[in-house]
Amino acid sequence: MKTKRCSKCTRELPLSEFGKRSASKDGLNYKCKTCCRTYGKAYRQSDHGKAIQIKYLQSEKGKAVCRKYQQSVEGKAACARASKKYQQSPEGKRTITQRRRLKLFAKLKFWPGK
Ligand SMILES: [Zn+2]
Repeated sequence: MKTKRCSKCTRELPLSEFGKRSASKDGLNYKCKTCCRTYGKAYRQSDHGKAIQIKYLQSEKGKAVCRKYQQSVEGKAACARASKKYQQSPEGKRTITQRRRLKLFAKLKFWPGK
């Protein structure tokens, strides 16, 4: 089995533990998947990473990826989870109450007799 040394954690790992990177000589990333995940997570939580993420999500490409994700089974499940979490938060509860009130007002306006 072919192996490669991760430049970050210096472990000797099978090639399947490395992601693809077309710019590399061997076509593989110089960091193992575990290191990449750790790095990516820290990066996304940094101010710089967050700013880039927001910029990406506002771009046409980012919006398309987002839409595609929301239509996938995984995306729909994540959406439902987020929505449930929001509904249980104080802010979400307020919004729902407000929405219900508005609906009721609309109803009363359109059907004053009921
Ligand atoms: Zn590593």
